[in-house]
Amino acid sequence: MDMFDEIYRKALQGLNEYLEANNMRKTAERQEVLSAICRLGGIFTQVDLADFMERESQFCVSRSTLFHTLDTFVAARILLKHALGRAASYELLTSKVPRAYLVCQTCGEIRRLERPELIKYLGTVRARLFSVRQPILYLNGECKKCAQRARKAKKTSL
Ligand SMILES: [Zn+2]
Repeated sequence: MDMFDEIYRKALQGLNEYLEANNMRKTAERQEVLSAICRLGGIFTQVDLADFMERESQFCVSRSTLFHTLDTFVAARILLKHALGRAASYELLTSKVPRAYLVCQTCGEIRRLERPELIKYLGTVRARLFSVRQPILYLNGECKKCAQRARKAKKTSL
């Protein structure tokens, strides 16, 4: 079994459990969208996914179906929704491993921050009167591209 199969199998299992628990139908559209998400990988917007499916998938899913399907996946907790930038971004959620992200406040880009010591610490954080379900940390700032653009703009205005 390759990496894609393993990720898809795990996500599909999570989705099917949710659909069964909520008396919802297992549709071919939902499976196809999930498969596309697994193949696309990483952090993506609805537009990224729609473009990818138009290119790579034989299945034609309308934008509104896609939108509702993503909502279902978020509710099923197999998809993480980052509602931070101008457009929401999504990411497959196949494990409860803590995650940290860098968020550019200028262009809205979101990147994973891979810092083993921080990820390990995040996993140990407990709060009073609150149960942490999925440890996620967002660090706001400015990406390199936006910082360079701002520096250039400053220079030309002098
Ligand atoms: Zn930026």
